[in-house]
Amino acid sequence: MTLENRPKRRAPAAVRITKPRARSAAGIREIFERFQTANPEPKGELDYVNAFTLLVAVVLSAQATDVGVNKATRKLFEIADTPQKMLALGEDVVRDHVRTIGLFRTKAKNVIALCVKLIEQFGGEVPTTRAELESLPGVGRKTANVVLNIAFGEITHAVDTHVFRVANRLRIAPGKNVLEVELGLETAVPPEFGRDAHHWLILHGRYTCKALRPECGRCLLNDLCDSPDKRVA
Ligand code: SF4
Repeated sequence: MTLENRPKRRAPAAVRITKPRARSAAGIREIFERFQTANPEPKGELDYVNAFTLLVAVVLSAQATDVGVNKATRKLFEIADTPQKMLALGEDVVRDHVRTIGLFRTKAKNVIALCVKLIEQFGGEVPTTRAELESLPGVGRKTANVVLNIAFGEITHAVDTHVFRVANRLRIAPGKNVLEVELGLETAVPPEFGRDAHHWLILHGRYTCKALRPECGRCLLNDLCDSPDKRVA
């Protein structure tokens, strides 16, 4: 057998796997129309009373549940709803309030450092640009996106574990990492759904399209979904 007529080997499976194609624009619109019909005014589940307490709640929510954060902040926000009041409490008291939340020591430290910077550089107000928000201690891209969206009404897409999973399963914005999914959502989500998309995707991922056992039987997108993770009853 010569080299030329030897049968060609197939490429290994890993090489043949490509990123799934994004759904068509019409298909994506249909998804968000259904979300909107089912829940016209979606809300986040973190409790807050103003932009400052929203910012603190989101900083505290990293690797913690919204329910757990709300329990810890209920009393804290009653006595400290401004950076000045939070700073006056001091790190020890803030730490005591949030000690039921994971990474509470680091988070309490960040909250105090955050207050110092808000007072010294932003006149005690929560800044309104991504760059300024991301300059604050404990604030990353996801937190900045949540604050820009909820407090300031911008169309931003904070990608947490739920949004990442749902955007991939439904092929709204397939991506291998959170930034890829976020940028995909920016172009894929029709503008009129932009402000609420983040809430719908999180709620869908948290309560229906769960990581291990998605509840496909009661999913309002069941007939549109072709995810390999879809469970057939
Ligand atoms: S059918 Fe299942 S996998 Fe598909 S979006 Fe709905 S819950 Fe998720």
